Amino acid sequence: MSFSSLVQDLSLRDSNAPRRNRGDASNASTINDNASRISHLSRGMSYASTAATSVSISGDLSSQLHSGYSHPLARSWQAERQLTKSMLIYPLFISDQDDEEVLIPSLPNQYRRGINRLVPFLEPLVRKGLQSVILFGVPLAPGVKDALGTAADDPEGPVIKSIRLLRERFPQLYICADVCLCEYTSHGHCGILREDGTLNNHLSVDRISDVAMAYANAGAHCVAPSDMNDGRIRAIKLKLIEEGISHQVMLMSYAAKFSGCLYGPFRDAAGSQPSFGDRRCYQLPPGGRGLARRAIIRDINEGADVIMVKPAGQYLDIISDAKELGKDLPIAAYQVSGEFAMIHAGAKAGVFDLKAMAFESHEGILRAGATIVVSYFVPEFLDWLSV
Ligand SMILES: [Zn+2]
Repeated sequence: MSFSSLVQDLSLRDSNAPRRNRGDASNASTINDNASRISHLSRGMSYASTAATSVSISGDLSSQLHSGYSHPLARSWQAERQLTKSMLIYPLFISDQDDEEVLIPSLPNQYRRGINRLVPFLEPLVRKGLQSVILFGVPLAPGVKDALGTAADDPEGPVIKSIRLLRERFPQLYICADVCLCEYTSHGHCGILREDGTLNNHLSVDRISDVAMAYANAGAHCVAPSDMNDGRIRAIKLKLIEEGISHQVMLMSYAAKFSGCLYGPFRDAAGSQPSFGDRRCYQLPPGGRGLARRAIIRDINEGADVIMVKPAGQYLDIISDAKELGKDLPIAAYQVSGEFAMIHAGAKAGVFDLKAMAFESHEGILRAGATIVVSYFVPEFLDWLSV
């Protein structure tokens, strides 16, 4: 039926019905727009009803949804959870060049900083409500990398020194430490290798759990192994228990970390490009939903306090799976460097507004089931969520 014949039909039908028009034209919906056209066409009849009223009275009332989200506040109430500052963790790249502050070209507005630059940078953010950071060490000194990633738990290395400094200067700030070897190994892989270049899982887990302990003992509130070696959650949890600090150190597992092409800017920032091969043998294949579910279940059973999914936007189904499988755990998602850079590139090209897409992408992550988001947009959100 064409619109004009529908209008005629409704007008004729209405002409036989009692007048119900309340004269309320406050709703700016398409239906009312149509209704006013109908009223206009019905002029000359003895009375007129609106199409909307006819439908709502005689039709199925479950079709009437606009009332629930016509006001901006009511629109926000439609979300199961809303973005707050306390959900956000800001990634920091800390180099061993103490006075360095260098823009990372592929990661808009993000810098690699030495320890002497940290406090002045963080002070205004903490004042605006920054509550948590995650630290990534970036060793740049010549010869500092070796096959065992020895620099990862160097007491004079950038991560351990930064944990101590931030605990002292910002007592309220919640400090997470990423735990991996790839920034520190000469080969750029996330563990210790066998002669044939494959990961030696046993040695890697032992080494990675030692690094986690060093960060925890330095004062990290949370250690977050991102290496994806089998069994590292259990190993770290057992060492935390043995050390007598498991009650105060959260263990956040990158349980569902997918390989792919969204980490390029991060590797620029952290200098962690593998010198040969790639990380596909230990990071999950993009299509591996079942594998991710198994990894999530495994890490929950091994003692993870939080499950993280990474990247976020391309893996919303995995976030949703993590929420289903770990329904009593907080779920974190990492909007990775490539996602962040894409949003900036899209905004720069005029495809969308940066702020609108930043919110939309994070709302998608929350809708999928996450309640913690690791995001490079944190400084902007501290402003945007203040108004
Ligand atoms: Zn790694």
